Amino acid sequence: MKKLCLLVAFAFSVEPMMAQSDDYHQFFTDECLRVDYELVGNREGETAVLKELKAQGVWAGPKRVCAEPAQLGNYRISVVDSATGKLLYSNGFSSIFNEWQQSPEALTTTASFYHVSLVPMPRRTVLFRLERTNYDKPGNSLISEFFINPKSKFIRRESAKPLNYTVVQGCDDVGTKIDIAFLAEGYTADQMDKFRADVNRFWSYMAGVEPYSSHKDRFNVYAVESPSAESGTDIPNRGIFRNTAMNFTFSTFDVDRYLTTFDMESVHDIAAAVPYEHIIILVNTSEYGGGGFYNFYCAGTADHNLSLRVMVHEFGHSFAGLADEYFYADEANEEMYSLQREPWEPNITTLIDFDSKWKSMLDVATPVPTPRTESYLGKVGVFEGGGYQTKGIYSPVQDCIMRSNTPKTFCPVCHKAILKAMGVEE
Ligand SMILES: [Zn+2]
Repeated sequence: MKKLCLLVAFAFSVEPMMAQSDDYHQFFTDECLRVDYELVGNREGETAVLKELKAQGVWAGPKRVCAEPAQLGNYRISVVDSATGKLLYSNGFSSIFNEWQQSPEALTTTASFYHVSLVPMPRRTVLFRLERTNYDKPGNSLISEFFINPKSKFIRRESAKPLNYTVVQGCDDVGTKIDIAFLAEGYTADQMDKFRADVNRFWSYMAGVEPYSSHKDRFNVYAVESPSAESGTDIPNRGIFRNTAMNFTFSTFDVDRYLTTFDMESVHDIAAAVPYEHIIILVNTSEYGGGGFYNFYCAGTADHNLSLRVMVHEFGHSFAGLADEYFYADEANEEMYSLQREPWEPNITTLIDFDSKWKSMLDVATPVPTPRTESYLGKVGVFEGGGYQTKGIYSPVQDCIMRSNTPKTFCPVCHKAILKAMGVEE
């Protein structure tokens, strides 16, 4: 369904190459390069418009040269050595833009969404490549690519916004550990004591859920005190609008509980106060809601009685690329997933390439598909329904944190995907 625009095409073929971590400093410095661009498009496709390049603090991601292109996410960025075509860095992500492209509005409107990608600062000219996962067939399509010369005087070298932050946990071994920045949304300057207490409450709950709890020391966690002019957030259904640091709002795509922002420039300007790989935004309200996108951000409210559980669910999206396992039995929905390809998310399948998913975790006696009956409660199977669709998409268990707020643990398939995201080999 997607016709993808191609800004500039070059004929490099990126072959996966094995590389040693020693190679990192041959190609990159310890700085972070921030690439800001807008994705502009509609249901038919998209193009990218470069906004600016910045040198932004230290590189907090892994200090190694990529062995192969990233596999997860609706988009993939790659950094390629311009002299040799060697793949140096690759990462995947998803964004609110591709969800918007599935909305009815995208049939009649073209819109632009701000995006920020972080890569390690190259030592010499590289090719930056942005690709999109194909909707109904395997593989990716090129959206845009352009050269970046790290010696250019037009790369902005400004210090970050002067924001206070506190260390919640760790703050050592940046580049080895996983760096998480909690950001304050809808907290006024006078409410930062509450924000710090909220972050401690959330992190202690999240770090108590397996498999995070067994590997808690792999994380550095920061709380960035980004004050808002007003307390709370936008609730358009009730005519409530607040002037806040990152412009969050409920009712994204007219779904009441869907709490997001499109203002990625502000999100990253604030996060830049600390070294970060993953962003969690606490929204200062007692309403129910949240949102999460793989390697983009995760957001939830601070004070609803389900807020802690919602944040674990949303962080499952943003940290490990997990799909929603829920589905709408009595609603007609636009299909988010094509049944013509295997989705990239590790915890749902169309059975087109089930070998690449959790087939090895099934008991031989478990039927495929597996009936949603009592005898298969708590067992790994292939249960029809997931990814918002009742037919053709299958989930690994009958209930999981990625389906509802009832379970307190992830299913074995999601558990395994989170371990992989943490770099833990089983
Ligand atoms: Zn699961």
